[in-house]
Parts: sequence; C-alpha cells; structure tokens
Amino acid sequence: MIYLDHAATCPMRQQALTQMTEAMQSIYGNASPSYPAAQQARARLDGARTVLAETIGADWKEIFFTSGGTEADNWALIGAYEAQRQLQRNDRSKGHIITTQIEHHAILHTCEYLESRGVGVSYLPVDRQGFVQTEALEQELRAHPETFLVSVMLANNEIGTVEDIAALAAVVRRAEAETGHRILLHTDAVQAYGKIPIDVKALDVDLLSVSAHKLGGPKGIGFLYIRKGTVLGSLMHGGGQESGRRAGTENVPAAIGFAAAAKEAGVHMQEEQENERRLQRYFVKRLQELFTLDMEEHKDGEQIGTDAAAETSADRIQAIWNGPLPGNGRLAGNINVSFLGFDQRTLLMNLDLAGICASGGSACTTGALEPSHVLMALAGDRRAAEGALRFTPGPENTEEEIDEALRVLKETMERIRRASCIQ
Ligand code: PLP
Repeated sequence: MIYLDHAATCPMRQQALTQMTEAMQSIYGNASPSYPAAQQARARLDGARTVLAETIGADWKEIFFTSGGTEADNWALIGAYEAQRQLQRNDRSKGHIITTQIEHHAILHTCEYLESRGVGVSYLPVDRQGFVQTEALEQELRAHPETFLVSVMLANNEIGTVEDIAALAAVVRRAEAETGHRILLHTDAVQAYGKIPIDVKALDVDLLSVSAHKLGGPKGIGFLYIRKGTVLGSLMHGGGQESGRRAGTENVPAAIGFAAAAKEAGVHMQEEQENERRLQRYFVKRLQELFTLDMEEHKDGEQIGTDAAAETSADRIQAIWNGPLPGNGRLAGNINVSFLGFDQRTLLMNLDLAGICASGGSACTTGALEPSHVLMALAGDRRAAEGALRFTPGPENTEEEIDEALRVLKETMERIRRASCIQ
C-alpha cells in the first residue's frame, strides 16, 4: 500500500502507541475522585494537558479535552453563541458570525445549524489561492456590528493554504475597540497543528481547535484552547470534568497518547517538514514532466521545477495546480491538482485498485456528488473541481512512491482517453 492521505488521518507515532498501551494497562482510575488510583489518573491527565499547552504557548488550564476536532469546532461556535445570548438577554438580535467559504464542514454545518436558530452568518470569499483578505473581514465587521465571533481556519485541509491569522486578529481587535464589545476569534488548527509552529499569543486568538489523529495520536481525542477569561457556553452537560466546562469521564490513556504524539511531532517538526516539502516539489516536477501543468495563477510567484510546462502539446493531459505554490503560505504536506476532463471518482477507484490511497478533497465529503466547496470558492470552475485529487504525503513516503502513484494515474487517464476515442 502507498499511503498518500495523511490529511485524512495518519499512522500513530511509536511513542504514542507505547505510552498509550502502557497507560491502558496501568491506569484505570477515574480522574475525578480523591483516592490514590484516581489521583494517579488525574496527575497523568494534567501532565498530558501541560505538554499540550506548551506546544501552543498556552497555560495548562486553558486546554480542554474534547472527542476531536469536530467537537472542538462545534463547541467554539455554539459555546460562543450561548455565551453572547446570556450576555445580551434583552437584545432581540441573535448576533452574527463571520467565517469563510473554505472552512471544514465541522464549521460550515455548525454555522448552518446556528443560522437555523436565527444567527446571521457571513461567509468570506477567498482569493484564487485560498487566502482571506483583511479588507473583506474589515468590511463585514463594519456591516455587522452585532458580530460576536470570527472563525477562520489556520490551514486548509484541501489545498493547504495557511491563513495570516495574526493579521486578521488585528482587524478583529480594532473592531472590538470601535464597537466596545467582545468579539471572539476562533481558529480551526486541526490541519496546522504539529506541522507549523503555533503560538496562541502571537496569533492573538481566543479559541483554537486541535485533533490528535492528524499528527500521529489516537482518534477520538482533541482539545479546544480557551483563552483565560473567555466566557463560553458548554456543549456537554453532566459531571464537573474539565473544570466544569466539558462533562464526561476523561479518556486518560488517549490524552497521554495525544501528548506523546504532539511532543514527538514538535521535536521532529523541522526535519519532517523539510522532507514533505522535498516530496511536494518533486511531485510538482513530475507533474510538469508528465502533464501540461497550469500554474498560471502563480505567474508572479515562485518558479519551481523544469520548464516542461512550456512544451504544451495538444494531446498532453492538462492539469491545474490548486492553491498556493509550495512555500510559506502552504502546508508542506499538501498537493492538490485537477486533471481536466477526468472524474475524480474514476481516478480514485483506479488508484485504490493499485493500492494507492489519496483523496478527492476532504475525507468527509468522499462519495458526495457535489464538487469541493473549497475549489469552487477559489475559481468557481466546476470541471476543474470534479477532476481534483489531493495527495498528502507524510514522513514515511518516498519519491519512488510518488513516481508509482503518478504512473498509475497517467496510465489510467490514457486508458480512459483511448476508450472514449473508440466509442
Ligand atoms: N477541521 C479540519 C480542518 C479538518 O481537516 C478536520 C478533519 O478532517 C476536522 C476539523 C475534524 O476533525 P476530527 O476528525 O478530529 O473530528
């Protein structure tokens, strides 16, 4: 098997497996009571919380465990809505949220839910590479002074665009000063965490979502960073766990595995990112050799690879690079390319048959008939979106595996072309 879908999920890191297995064997106490077995569980849980807090420059009391990124995103949005409802009991407006058109469905579908409760939502457009413009946010904040939350993802799961959250935060803080009321800033850092350095103070965010399984930790655990002093309603009601903010017996072994994975990801971040960047550039180079690769949108950007794109010939298959060029504005482990005139489902099925795992966009929409909302937001080109594939190599992948994936792809496309000529 050639696994090129690390943005969907990735194998567990050895340290996470070892520590989690040991914890499952030795720590069974519920972290709440006061007897020694419980206190041991509590100490290990808060130890994991401290390690995780350090990875984003937070205090351990600002980290709240969740069941993953989806819950953290839901909590941030619904919790902010509940909090502002309580603060503005007599105000008939249900308030406003500003987000973007390219968020993960964990955000977009939660926004739809809140819209059904009467909340107004603005979906900011993005440029051709997926970047949110500060002017667009400024304009929307001015149009909606009742805004109580802005949510913009740190890195996009389909095209790897890394947003300038600190610049957007400055706009939010200015609007706060002008309106005289609190506007929370949330960022979904599920794809960015463990891949790029994150400092919540430098980003100036109030809320930040993370998931363990994207960086080699276990599935079913994540956290929401809640800046000290932030008023946020609860999503889960019940016991007094997580300082009374998120009920439910904590999964101590998973928290330990999560912290071990995060620590390892931090230690190896630079070398892993260099390796992923090398593979990303190699992928582009091979695309340029095998197809007519359109990087038109990036004329002013960095030039990479060979000049093969210049040798355009009528029968070469046309490919379009989606999102920013490899560089600082894009995650190193993300490749997204559209093959014009081909259906991503057919291509994925043929890759599947050859034992190659890739994706047609976000894993959550695989099988859906609608083209990617992210690619549609970039250029509105349905044909390009329908032929888009996402490859997300990880630390263990090699150039040979990329060669093999592209060989299978090209053969599949040539077969499809021949078949359509015969008919
Ligand atoms: N946000 C983003 C950007 C994601 O990529 C994902 C998962 O693909 C999620 C949220 C949801 O995370 P989880 O799978 O932990 O619920």
